[in-house]
Amino acid sequence: MSLAHLVLFAGLLSLVILASSSSSPGSRSILRDISGENADQRDRAVELNSSNFDSVLRDTPAKYAVVEFFAHWCPACRNYKPHYEKVARLFNGPDAIHPGIVLMTRVDCAMKTNTKLCDRFSVSHYPMLFWGPPTKFVSGSGEPKKEKSEIVVIDDARTAERLLNWINKQTQSSYGLEDKKFENEHVRTNITDYKQISQGVYDIEEATGEAFDIILSNKAIKSSETSASFIRFIQLLAAHHASKRCRKGAAEILVNYDDLCPSGKCSYESSGGKDTLGTFPICGKDVPRGYYMFCRGSRNETRGFSCGLWVLFHSLSVRIEDGESHFAFTSICDFVNNFFMCDECRLHFNDMCLSVKTPFKKARDFVLWVWSTHNKVNERLMKDEASLGTGDPEFPKIIWPPRELCPSCYLSSDEKSIEWDEDNVYKFLKNYYGPKLVSLYKEKSVVGSKEETVLATTEDLTVATNALVVPIGAALAIAVASCAFGALACYWRTQQKNRKPRRSWN
Ligand code: FAD
Repeated sequence: MSLAHLVLFAGLLSLVILASSSSSPGSRSILRDISGENADQRDRAVELNSSNFDSVLRDTPAKYAVVEFFAHWCPACRNYKPHYEKVARLFNGPDAIHPGIVLMTRVDCAMKTNTKLCDRFSVSHYPMLFWGPPTKFVSGSGEPKKEKSEIVVIDDARTAERLLNWINKQTQSSYGLEDKKFENEHVRTNITDYKQISQGVYDIEEATGEAFDIILSNKAIKSSETSASFIRFIQLLAAHHASKRCRKGAAEILVNYDDLCPSGKCSYESSGGKDTLGTFPICGKDVPRGYYMFCRGSRNETRGFSCGLWVLFHSLSVRIEDGESHFAFTSICDFVNNFFMCDECRLHFNDMCLSVKTPFKKARDFVLWVWSTHNKVNERLMKDEASLGTGDPEFPKIIWPPRELCPSCYLSSDEKSIEWDEDNVYKFLKNYYGPKLVSLYKEKSVVGSKEETVLATTEDLTVATNALVVPIGAALAIAVASCAFGALACYWRTQQKNRKPRRSWN
């Protein structure tokens, strides 16, 4: 073989290596892969590597994680895979029987790029399984080798049954390999558990992603009116969504909107590699994940999306400024009217919107309006669900918040004609859908890099301190600092459009 041949061969080899490493999927594409159309044939354990390890474990809503360190050349690992997958099938992917509880992952230590990662965990044999809270695996969150680390080695996981037994002991659960979805559902209402709302942040991401997907699949932006309504709602999300990745995704849609939907006419099918709205998943590529947490029902067909939408609306209402209250009100009303594809819900909600005769001037009034409107829906559905038996038996409709959750919200002890202390209701809602909702999320971002923590804190403060005069425009500019001109131009343009009254609420 000549030198020229050798050089050519080496060049080809490096191209192949480069191609295979550059095509190694990032965290989101991996999560998307397992939720794809042929999901049944696919592995459920999420393949991690040195570049996606931290982000996947930081972003997961799951309470626990299992990380399997293996080597693809190891025959014992190959034989173990079906056992591991059998357990992963219970917890991972859109068809998971018990979603959002344990994230099952694997790392191939035979890949050179993962050597440092495997060293960090002192992997001594294959397969070697670790257990712990996902964020504790993230670099910088403590050394796994230290004695008191919350990360432990799973010492009895030889078969699927033994691994699941081990998990059951840790979680004090009784999951079984033969469990069927919702068959033995253990979801129960616990109205006194104030902390549960901290999982709601994942549900508002889910509901936002699902709403966006519904709009895309129904090609629901059909006219200049629906286009303007879409833009206004996306503006609200870009400025005030409680999830940072949804704020970012919404801002990116706004910046690119002129190209994606010229004159309000959106292209939905990609042709010639051109971007479409679908190219910009609003809360990132791994959302919707396919399940709800705070809004998970005890039956397949209950709660979920509509519950997530309510939580989204409440969480938006507590984040806005006085000067934005009417804008937020019309944005949400128009969004429901144009894009919520439940006819009865849409019509009832629209009636309640139309009954508002004077524009909102105070954010407090808007927060209380969303709350009382939701209670009116609860009151109506209480009767319907009782007579038709269509409600979730574990989550019967109630007038909310119940006394157990907010005793000071009640002025009287008469359950038949409730008298509210609206100042206390307002305080309660601000805290519940404000800091409480994002408490888990913030905790996680603190585990991330210092830079990210500073950014998250600054952004959260921007929203929380109510310090800005034109917060929607300003927060939007912060969210898309890198392309501020595009965003502001887009914002200015839609403000101009908004000046022409489209509908009077008076
Ligand atoms: P949800 O009512 O969805 O509430 C979600 C969570 O919000 C609750 O678990 C609770 O923690 C909290 N919550 C409850 N009440 C309040 C309140 N007043 N203020 C603040 N937080 C509260 N369904 C119909 O059958 N007919 C309709 O006309 C209809 N209209 C709807 C209109 C809108 C805009 C939306 C978003 C949904 C509508 N739905 C309607 C669906 C219905 O309201 C519920 O979302 C669905 O039945 C699921 O109920 P859930 O038990 O999950 O609780």
